[in-house]
Amino acid sequence: MNKHEKLIEQSKQHLWLPFTQMKDYDKDPLIIESGSGVKVKDTEGNEYYDGFSSVWLNVHGHRKEELNDAIHEQLEKIAHSTLLGMSNVPATELAAKLVEISPAGLDRVFYSDSGATAVEIALKMAFQYWKNIDEPQKKRFITMKNGYHGDTVGAISVGAVELFHRIYEPLMFESIKVPYPYVYRHESRDAEACKQDCLAVLERTLEMHHHEVAALIVEPLVQGASGMITMPEGFLREARELCRKYNVLTIFDEVATGFGKTGKLFAMEHENTVPDIMTSGKGLTGGYLPIAITMTSEKIYQAFYDDYASMKTFFHGHSYTGNQLGCAVALANLKLFELDDIVEKVAQKSAYIAKEMKIIEDMDIVGEVRQRGFMIGMEIVEDKETREPFPAQDRIGYEITLEMRKRGMLSRPMGDVLVFMPPLCATNKELKAMIRIMQDSIAEVAKRKQKVQR
Ligand code: PMP
Repeated sequence: MNKHEKLIEQSKQHLWLPFTQMKDYDKDPLIIESGSGVKVKDTEGNEYYDGFSSVWLNVHGHRKEELNDAIHEQLEKIAHSTLLGMSNVPATELAAKLVEISPAGLDRVFYSDSGATAVEIALKMAFQYWKNIDEPQKKRFITMKNGYHGDTVGAISVGAVELFHRIYEPLMFESIKVPYPYVYRHESRDAEACKQDCLAVLERTLEMHHHEVAALIVEPLVQGASGMITMPEGFLREARELCRKYNVLTIFDEVATGFGKTGKLFAMEHENTVPDIMTSGKGLTGGYLPIAITMTSEKIYQAFYDDYASMKTFFHGHSYTGNQLGCAVALANLKLFELDDIVEKVAQKSAYIAKEMKIIEDMDIVGEVRQRGFMIGMEIVEDKETREPFPAQDRIGYEITLEMRKRGMLSRPMGDVLVFMPPLCATNKELKAMIRIMQDSIAEVAKRKQKVQR
């Protein structure tokens, strides 16, 4: 048995992978050994484009010298010390930097280690805020249908993706669900009509429930995990204003959309709006280490600031909160954002992607291509006219990504929606090569489907 075969055997024997039916993995196992730029390499030496930036994380490519150096330098000082009751140097500097680059009104940084924990913190913060200011009846949450905010029990309680969340319903607290403006599946197929419909339901819901609602949580501009569903212009800003009118806090979950992915540093900037609480993570460390943030306003922070005896302390923390290595690499990452003009370049390269994606949009089984910057979804359908999906058991998205893999590119579909979310550093040439692989893979599977029909 060579090293590769041994690793495959060990992975099948001992590993349990996230969001993975292990029976699928056992059929098509894959172990990544190294990476460079926008490519990763497996244990057999095969190279793949990282077409989903290792689940929406990577910014400057793999093995980026400046990021590696930042970790080495920090290691010479200390790898980790706790943030409970004391701070550390990179966590302090990073907090100051984050407040400087975030939209005005986000003044405080609370660290954790994943998007889901950042969301847990946001929920508990919003809940306790109302308690601390003597409005304890405001304890429920409004969320959007098809929303996704992570996999811990609090985060799934404000999640609304049938497939992932139905099983765990008996474990969850109940949230109030309002429709998300999914234009492609709205009866009108008209962005403005769809937006107005959804805003009207949100307003009715706020009217009825505001007295008991702590906050609305929403993924700004793009619902990622439910299929890269983009919002009509103005929806986010107007939803935020409605919450303000009804004295309900807003939580923008920028875990996926934050740090340049939509062509602005934060997606909310497209709409010139700011929430009471923002969560983010993923791209914050350039895809290197697990650091996430929950940022909030001074007003919310002050509601917790008192003598200990008042019992207003925020009783939440994790062992690795504010980890020095993670914060050091995040600082180096943000420096590169500025030096390399990443956000501006994403905006420019997005136009190139849009142009190149036209070929895919015209394909028979592609219902719609949705794009916001480097967040792109392709909804695969059996019938382009009627928007009829393929039978769920066909697992069309999965089948296409297996084809992509054969052609040297990795991604993960969200049901019938293919995801293209390359590292932000990808050049036009690399983007074109990836788009070509997606086109060929879709064509191959479409051909196979036609044969079956005949
Ligand atoms: N919120 C959003 C909007 C996300 O897209 C994700 C992950 N895809 C999460 C939260 C959870 O983040 P994590 O996987 O880091 O827990």
